[in-house]
Amino acid sequence: MSRYTGPKCKLCKKYGEKLYLKGDRCWTAEKCPMARESTSGGGVKTFRRQKSEYAKHLKEKQKSRILFGVGEAQLRKVFHTISRKKGIKGENLLSALSRRLDNVVYRLNMAASLPQARQIVGHRFMKVNGRVCNIPSRELGTGDKIALTEKGKKIESVKKSLEHSASKNIPDWLKLEKDMMTGTVARDITSEDLVQAGIDHRLIVEFYSR
Ligand code: SF4
Repeated sequence: MSRYTGPKCKLCKKYGEKLYLKGDRCWTAEKCPMARESTSGGGVKTFRRQKSEYAKHLKEKQKSRILFGVGEAQLRKVFHTISRKKGIKGENLLSALSRRLDNVVYRLNMAASLPQARQIVGHRFMKVNGRVCNIPSRELGTGDKIALTEKGKKIESVKKSLEHSASKNIPDWLKLEKDMMTGTVARDITSEDLVQAGIDHRLIVEFYSR
């Protein structure tokens, strides 16, 4: 399935929740249609119809693709890889997606959006454990440290994003050293962390296990 290139806010409306796809706009109540609708009491207008089990599984799978910015083939590949590991498949899947380098850069607020985080990595502005890494899908492990390169530290959008980082939620499993412009995967991701991600991973596993 190809990458979605239409209006991002439409996706939030479709899934009935804020997916934070437009960087800083998403954090400004006046600029976010979802925030405006909830404060005006209008609610989100959705087409209500009894959904089949398949439709529910598909929807959750698609939502996870949007949230982590991965294609269908990538998601299937990650699922295939985690299927061979011990533990709960759904949790392992979300954990692997969460620990992608582009997602970590975004969640540490070094970028205003996931596409921007991917660009920063792709343009070689990010180091992992002291070495430049330009692979957005690289999976980080506990203790891995990321840092902006000297050129990366000078990017205005990065500085701006870090300035606003206090108002955004950084997951507990990550640690940001704002002054140094570095971050660390401080600990393993737990079930509680994944609950906060707002994705029902069981539905994704059921989708791929058909
Ligand atoms: Fe979604 Fe609001 Fe961001 Fe648009 S501005 S992508 S509706 S969170």
